[in-house]
Formats: sequence, C-alpha cells, structure tokens
Amino acid sequence: MKIIVDLKERSYPILIERKALYHIQDVIDTNRKIAIICDDFIPDTWIEIVKSQCPNSMVFKFPQGENSKCIQQFQYLLEQCIQFQMTRKDAIIAIGGGVTGDLAGFVAASYMRGIDFYNIPTTILSQVDSSVGGKVAIDMGSYKNIVGAFYQPKGVLIDPDVLSTLSIRQQHNGLVEALKMGLILDEKLVEAFEQDVLDLEYIISRSIDLKRIIVEQDEKESHLRKILNFGHTIGHAIESAYGLDTYYHGECVAMGMLFFIKDKDLKQRVLKIYESLSLPVVPDYDVDVLMNCIVHDKKSSEKTVSIISIEKAGQYKIEEMSYNLIRDILERGPYEK
Ligand code: NAD
Repeated sequence: MKIIVDLKERSYPILIERKALYHIQDVIDTNRKIAIICDDFIPDTWIEIVKSQCPNSMVFKFPQGENSKCIQQFQYLLEQCIQFQMTRKDAIIAIGGGVTGDLAGFVAASYMRGIDFYNIPTTILSQVDSSVGGKVAIDMGSYKNIVGAFYQPKGVLIDPDVLSTLSIRQQHNGLVEALKMGLILDEKLVEAFEQDVLDLEYIISRSIDLKRIIVEQDEKESHLRKILNFGHTIGHAIESAYGLDTYYHGECVAMGMLFFIKDKDLKQRVLKIYESLSLPVVPDYDVDVLMNCIVHDKKSSEKTVSIISIEKAGQYKIEEMSYNLIRDILERGPYEK
C-alpha cells in the first residue's frame, strides 16, 4: 500500500508493506552516498538488509535511548557526514524508532542546509506516528524537542515484519499512539483494539493515514495538529516527575489520556484495552509536583493551556483550561467514575 502525503513541493510517499525492507529502491534513490543512521540496539539483520542495497554507504551508530537526542550526538553525526564527504546530492536514511528519526532527521535538515532524508521506522510508535509529519528535533537538558525543525522526509518505508524483534512492552507502548488517533478521530480504530487478535497492519496503516490527513491540513502545528497532543500535558508531567527510568513515553501518554476522556462508558472501554495491553496503572502522584512540571513544560507565561478532551470515541474538543482547573482534575484523579 502506498500513501502520498500531499504537501505540494514537499510531498512524499509512505510505502507500507511486509518485506518492503528488501526493495527500498521503490522509495529511495540509493545511487549516491548514503549515511545510514541507527542506534546500537536495533538488530544488525535489519541494518544489513538496507546496507546491502546501498552500494556507497556508511553506517553511523549512536547509543540507544532518549539521552542520545542531544547536541553531542547531533554534532558527532554531522562530523561523520563531513568525514564521509557527503554533498548536497547525497542522502540520510534513518532506521530505528522515534529517537533515531528525530535525531537523524535534524542532522539531514542541518547538513549543508538540508539533504534528502528517508525514514525507515522500526518501532510501532514510529510506524504509527513519528515517521510522518516532518517534526525533527533534539532535547536540551530537561526541555524535550526544544531545538529542531519542520523537515519533511523524501519518503517513508514501513515494513511491519521488522516488529518481530521488538519487545512486547515496546509494541504495546507504541500502540498507545495509535489508540490515541482512534480516540480523537476514528471510533473504528478504537474498535480494532477490542478484537481478540489485533490486526496490526490495519492499525498501522489507518493511524498513519489519519496522521497524514492532519499534517496535510496543518503542516507546522499552528492549529489542528495540536490535537495529536491529546494526553501529553499530564503524560509528559508524569514522565518528567516519575517516569524517565520507570515508564515508556507511550505508557505515560496512556495515563495522561485518562484524565480527559469525558464519556464514562468510553473510559471503561479504554481501561479494558489498557489491561489487554498490560499498560501500567497511574502511580500515586503529588499534585504539586505534576503542576510544577506542567507549568515548566509549557515554556510560557500563558494563563491557560490548550487541552484536548474526548467527548465520544472519535470526537475531540479543544479547551482552554486554567491551571486551577487542571489542578482540580489532578486532585479528582484519573479513575473518577
Ligand atoms: P526509540 O527510538 O528509543 O526505540 C525504542 C527502543 O527500541 C530502542 O532501544 C531501539 O533500539 C529499539 N528498537 C527499535 N526498533 C527495533 C526493532 N525492530 N527490534 C528491536 N528493537 C528495536 O523509542 P520510540 O518509542 O520509537 O520513540 C520515542 C521518541 O519518539 C521520543 O524521543 C519522542 O519524542 C519521539 N516522537 C516524535 C514524534 C514526531 O512527530 N517527530 C512523535 C512522537 C514521538
């Protein structure tokens, strides 16, 4: 299946296909220098399959994990591109999860003011969400994604078979972002999570297509694209305050979404889905600590925060909430009936 993201001169294809990894030329012009960027945890099998199709390529690895989305790794990768004597006509391929895509994409956006960038996402999170849309970035200290760019890839290649080596916990973590898409935009996608056996190909292709629809309407997140931040305000706060070594990003987003699902029946359905995905329950938290993180995260002195809430499955609402109201919501807790 091929989907085109229509952004005029920045349009690009997303190829979703089992075994797509074996014919990357369908999307990527490999007849030039290629820097393949990946972390050091992704299985070599996947890298070798890609490298064997790029006759003039080098593999540049960085340590796995969010900590590598930093200025030091950014600098290291740019230096590798210079040493490899890459020109403006050459290209970067990211193969890995959201960390690799965000970091390698920012290197591609910066090297010689921008060279071609291709993304081969290998986690569910990156296949259903981060590989499409062109947000590339690194973190600075405790500020996530504070330095970056909107830089669309030239193509995205999704091969669901690469998920065979991904841990179950990482798979479930990524599925949260797909469930998020369903909750805000498409009840049928929510229902896909209520089946005995998950149809992963359907979930991936439907989620990424919903992302495409949003990105086409609001490439630079000036309005509509903000709805994709559903669950992130409290989710990020839990992640910063309690989560960095304990929870994955998607697990925190799952916790954050619960606070803003208004329909009680829907909340029960979502809790059942969380159980089936063995997602962690929301830990006991200190309201003051979370409120501090939320204020810090907003990086502004605004009196309100834009919050996405869900009225019914597939129907979102954007509300400007005061910090006092968010405090009330935190005091009531996520499991309020
Ligand atoms: P990740 O990139 O750290 O990958 C998770 C782990 O899985 C890593 O250890 C990685 O080596 C390993 N891995 C990847 N593919 C594998 C495979 N096929 N088999 C075995 N192991 C594999 O984490 P992630 O959850 O994919 O991404 C999180 C990042 O994505 C965060 O930095 C977040 O900010 C970013 N993000 C970006 C966007 C965006 O629009 N740009 C959207 C959402 C999230």
